Amino acid sequence: MPNSDPAAETMAPPDLSGYQPPRMLGNSDVRLHNLSVVMRTIHTRATCTRAELARATGLTKTAIGGLVNDLLDQGVLVEEEFSAHRVGRPSAPLRIARERFAAVVVDIGATYLCTTLSDLAGQVHTRETDLASSQSLRVSDRIELITSRIGAAAAAARDNHLRLVGVVVAAHGITDAHRGILRRHTTKDELDIAGQISEQLPGIPFVLVENDANLAALAEWERYRTDGVRHLISLSGELSIGAGIVLDGRLHEGRSGYAGSFSHITLDPAGPECTCGRSGCWRTLVGLHHVLRNALPEVATGLEQIPGYAPIAVDALIAAAQAENKQVLDALATAGHWLGEGTANIVNALDPDLVVVGGYYAAVAPWLMPAAHDALGNGALMPIDPAQLMVVSDLNSAPYRQGAADVERARVLGGGLHCVTERLIETPLALASL
Ligand SMILES: [Zn+2]
Repeated sequence: MPNSDPAAETMAPPDLSGYQPPRMLGNSDVRLHNLSVVMRTIHTRATCTRAELARATGLTKTAIGGLVNDLLDQGVLVEEEFSAHRVGRPSAPLRIARERFAAVVVDIGATYLCTTLSDLAGQVHTRETDLASSQSLRVSDRIELITSRIGAAAAAARDNHLRLVGVVVAAHGITDAHRGILRRHTTKDELDIAGQISEQLPGIPFVLVENDANLAALAEWERYRTDGVRHLISLSGELSIGAGIVLDGRLHEGRSGYAGSFSHITLDPAGPECTCGRSGCWRTLVGLHHVLRNALPEVATGLEQIPGYAPIAVDALIAAAQAENKQVLDALATAGHWLGEGTANIVNALDPDLVVVGGYYAAVAPWLMPAAHDALGNGALMPIDPAQLMVVSDLNSAPYRQGAADVERARVLGGGLHCVTERLIETPLALASL
């Protein structure tokens, strides 16, 4: 469509001959920025030729050639084989050498500590799981163990010829990822996890501390971004309910890191009493603890005494549901109803492209989701297809019966790898030359 603005037709093209970039932006800054642009472009498309890079970024072919050579020299990029079927001068596709770089992801669960060394392609190289005794559930009491596990994983990275580019610590509770701290809900005390780890392991390039539900959301967004998903909500079924919000492709953490704290929204004022002093909070209706008590009251009390009981409880629920135990089926359907009711509130407020559920919800999905979809369909204000809008995480390829923790660990790991990959994209040469 022609430009109808009459002023534009008479306006002379701007004279750029004397143009100088702003003084504070030096040539090296421009180069670092361009390296990151090249990395981002390749990351978005998975593979990209030099010609495609030039077209996508607007940089000259010569400039692209220089940047790509630097990244190839440092081993950040690899050139794939030429396609035999291409006509004319072939151009080798480039991709990020994810298999050469690694992250350590430490998942601090309520009752376990799971330390994984993975390359950025998602291949797990080592994994160490420590079950916490009831005396050592506080994160502050586990810093020494966490640091020692990270040290062992870093040594394994060296043995496997992997370049360790970062550590991500996933924790329950409110985190400040920029400062690397974990804040307690109740006392507002701050625990400087990143500082303590960096002090004891000075060779680690960076330590990021992030809320586990936020990491799950980032993992799901990474999974669905190529389908055009921009706004995504992730819900994690645990003893409580964790939630992460991705808006416009970015994690939404709010002013203080509290965004996504949906556990205590009141859904049923006549419902069970909550630890916050009110009644019928969402967590009291869909948290594993409460669902277990409704479904299997005769074993719930005994199970809750066992450290790391959540996966055992989920296995018990699945076994009883498969045996068509009516009390269990009713309890799961009721939980599904409240899961859908709460989700409808979130959907009405945030209008996401997708809601992905994980944790124990994924494990008991066959008995939970029909009622959840019904309630979501009834509660949503805009016309939606509840089964399309609210889906179960498929990040874990293992069968559901292997336990709720597997789904959530896969999501936390995926989110951790997303964060470390983002750092590599932003500062590829700084991290590659370590
Ligand atoms: Zn509450």
